[in-house]
Amino acid sequence: MKELLNNIIESNRRYTKQGELAAYIPELTKANKDALGVCVTTLDGQEFCAGDCETKFTIQSISKVISLIIALMDNGKEKVFSKVGVEPTSEAFNSITNLETKNLHRPLNPMINAGAIAIVSLIEGENSECVFNKILDFTKKMTGNENLHIDENIYRSEKSTGDRNRSLAYFMKSTGVITKDIDEVLDAYFRQCSIEVTCRDISRIGAVLANDGVIPWNGEKLVPKEIARIVKAIMTTCGMYDESGEFAVNIGLPAKSGVGGGVMAAVPSKLGIGVVGPALDDKGNSSAGIKVLEDLSKKLNLSIF
Ligand code: GLN
Repeated sequence: MKELLNNIIESNRRYTKQGELAAYIPELTKANKDALGVCVTTLDGQEFCAGDCETKFTIQSISKVISLIIALMDNGKEKVFSKVGVEPTSEAFNSITNLETKNLHRPLNPMINAGAIAIVSLIEGENSECVFNKILDFTKKMTGNENLHIDENIYRSEKSTGDRNRSLAYFMKSTGVITKDIDEVLDAYFRQCSIEVTCRDISRIGAVLANDGVIPWNGEKLVPKEIARIVKAIMTTCGMYDESGEFAVNIGLPAKSGVGGGVMAAVPSKLGIGVVGPALDDKGNSSAGIKVLEDLSKKLNLSIF
C-alpha cells in the first residue's frame, strides 16, 4: 500500500501546476501550491501515508460534514431538511442565485456555503463560542487528535473578508431560514472552517463514516448509523459542489473538499482517505488531489457504483 501511494503521489505531482490557490481568503495564498500528500486509514486502524502528508492546512468546507452530523443529532432529519434541501447544485459553492429562485428560499444542500451556514444556525448552543466548541470537540473525536485548534490568521482573514457569506446569511435571515443572530452564526462558521488539520486527520474522519459512525481505533459509536448513511449520500451527490457528477463518474466515492486543498473520502466498509493539494481547479476542488483519488479508486477498485 505504501509503495502504491508513493507512486500515485509522484505521478500526479504535475497536476498541482494546473490549479491555483484560493485567493478570495487572502491568507490562503500563503499555502504551498506544490504540496501533495495522501493518507489512508483502514477500518482495523492501520494508516498509510505518502508525499507531503505532514502539510498543515485549514479544513474549510470539509467541516460542513461535521456540523451537519451535529445538527442532525441535535434536531433530527425532519427539522434539518425542512430548512436545508438535499439536492445537488449546478452553481458555485458560494452562489447566491438559487436562494432567491429555487425551493422557496431553502438552500439547496448542506455542502454549499448557504446550506452550511443555515446548518450551523441549527446547532444548539447559547452563543458562537458554545457552538464552535461543540464542533471542535466533535472534530477532535472524529480525528482522534486532541491537539486540533484553529489557525487564527486564517480565521481573521476570512472573517474580515467574508462579505459573500454575510450576504448569504442575511438573505436567509430575511426569508426566515435563519432565526439566530447572524454575527454569532457566522463567527462559529468562520471558526469551524479555520480548524487546522493534516491529511491524516481528514482520513480518519472518512474512516469513521466508512465504518458506519463507529470509531475504528477505539470502537466508540460516535455517529448514529442512520446519520452516517445520510451524510455519505449527501457527500456523494453534493460534496464536490458543481463537480460532484464528474467526480461520481470518475472516482465514485462519497467525498468532501475544502478550499484549503483537502479532500476527504469515505469508502463504505473499507477505508477513509485524506488528500491535500492546495492548488484548486475552477470549481474550488484540489486539482491534483482529485487525480490522486481517481488513481487510488481505479487501482484498488473502490468505486461504490
Ligand atoms: N470558508 C470557506 C468559505 O466559506 C469555505 C468554502 C470552501 O471550502 N469551499 O468560503
